Amino acid sequence: MNRRERRAAAAGARRGAAPEAHPMASRAAELQQHVLESERRLGGEVLARGRSPQTVYELVDSAATLADSFMRQNPTSRDSLACKLGCDHCCRRPVGTSAPTVLRIAAALREGLSAEDFARALARVVALDEKTHGVSWTPTERPPLPCAFLVNGACSVYEVRPFVCRAWNSADAEACRRALGQESIEMRFDLFQRTTFAAVEKGLQAAVQESGLDAMDLELTAAVRVAMENADACQRWLAGEPVFAGCEAKPDRRRRLPFA
Ligand code: SF4
Repeated sequence: MNRRERRAAAAGARRGAAPEAHPMASRAAELQQHVLESERRLGGEVLARGRSPQTVYELVDSAATLADSFMRQNPTSRDSLACKLGCDHCCRRPVGTSAPTVLRIAAALREGLSAEDFARALARVVALDEKTHGVSWTPTERPPLPCAFLVNGACSVYEVRPFVCRAWNSADAEACRRALGQESIEMRFDLFQRTTFAAVEKGLQAAVQESGLDAMDLELTAAVRVAMENADACQRWLAGEPVFAGCEAKPDRRRRLPFA
């Protein structure tokens, strides 16, 4: 907001008028609504084809494809971002996601890894879950810890990573480092990317909920442990069993990122 806009907002506030939205915030809100509705419709169509693990995986894959198609319209240059292979500050934060993504990750690991590598990945997930299970995501209760899927500075489930991981980006790696474990976060980031992937996650959750399935926000480590330890987790979730009970995300609502 520039000085003129700030003065107009202050004058409006003195007159008792509702503050005008920042133009960037209103464009982001429009984009969010459009992406969310697109994914809600697409996700509903996919789920209407039947209730099978394959449909759940297709739901997640089609949501990722949709998000990528929106991202091709992103006017922001990748060069303005600090994100690159080997920079993993954001992979030390708790991750919230929903059951389809959790089940997609577990299926990809089961399909892509040898029995020994799957057991090693599960051991990392269990070790992290033992430290973080059920805690609230405040800086004191949930200090920064490397994600169980972070291997040699890279995401080992990159192709199927949660949408919140795809949304995160920053123009300043040092700001990401400083933000770890802090209550207040200030950084510049690509709003288009953040909005698009966050809206796809919301649209996917809406489609899941409208089809009568559990769309609860889950903590990645706890939920993926359940999905990796139980080969029938997807069928049970589709049948309405509370397979992810106790894996709820517990975000710290004070730690919202500002528009930049
Ligand atoms: S799933 Fe991948 S991208 Fe997301 S926090 Fe873990 S390592 Fe990072």
